[in-house]
Amino acid sequence: MSIADNTKRILEEIQDLEHTSLTQESVELIAVSKFHPVEAIVEAYDAGARIFGENKVQELQEKLGDLPDFNFHMIGNLQSNKVKYIYDKVRLIQSLDRPSLLKEIEKYGLAAQIKIPCLIEINIADEPQKGGVAVNSVQDFLEHCLDQSHVEIKGLMTVAPDIDDEAYLRRCFQKMFQLREKLNTVYKHELNLEILSMGMSQDYKIAIEEGANMVRIGSKIFGRRQYNG
Ligand SMILES: *Cc1c(COP(=O)(O)O)cnc(C)c1O
Repeated sequence: MSIADNTKRILEEIQDLEHTSLTQESVELIAVSKFHPVEAIVEAYDAGARIFGENKVQELQEKLGDLPDFNFHMIGNLQSNKVKYIYDKVRLIQSLDRPSLLKEIEKYGLAAQIKIPCLIEINIADEPQKGGVAVNSVQDFLEHCLDQSHVEIKGLMTVAPDIDDEAYLRRCFQKMFQLREKLNTVYKHELNLEILSMGMSQDYKIAIEEGANMVRIGSKIFGRRQYNG
């Protein structure tokens, strides 16, 4: 199957799955193009993909150089000292997960007089090796975010554990959904966490059923990556 075929198939499948979703919301596809060349991105675009996800700043910069009008999201661990290269070029930073990074994003937003859209990344299963805010510190972190006037928190993101246990993954996604509901209630006057970004090639069906409205799919569209990241 070609990238174009994969893209079309996934887009159709997502549309079908919207009917199985808890919320019946429409679901946005992020085609995760990391480690794949610009030609692959263009092929997916021509087949209907509109938003692309990258997880390395340098690779993102190179691809933005070739495709300056394309909608890219930063989905990977972001070092604070690299914010300056991408803060006004990506359409969404999905991996905001610590105060030092928040401070740096605010700094550039303030200087440019723009609001930088971000998702808070959650470490939903408390995996020690993983980035993301722990569930029990999200509220503190969110309050810290609300003090920054040049960072706009649009929702939550998670990378679920890499295990083949549907019931367990389903519980992780349910916890994410409930967390967003809770925060939207507590902070109903301050913000609206619209986006719930969860689900990857292995688990996007479960994620959509449990209320994801954004999925990030790489290998099922572009094939295997040479290096995993
Ligand atoms: C690589 C990556 C994906 C896509 O992974 P696949 O399993 O290839 O679909 C999604 N989200 C993040 C944060 C990633 O780094």
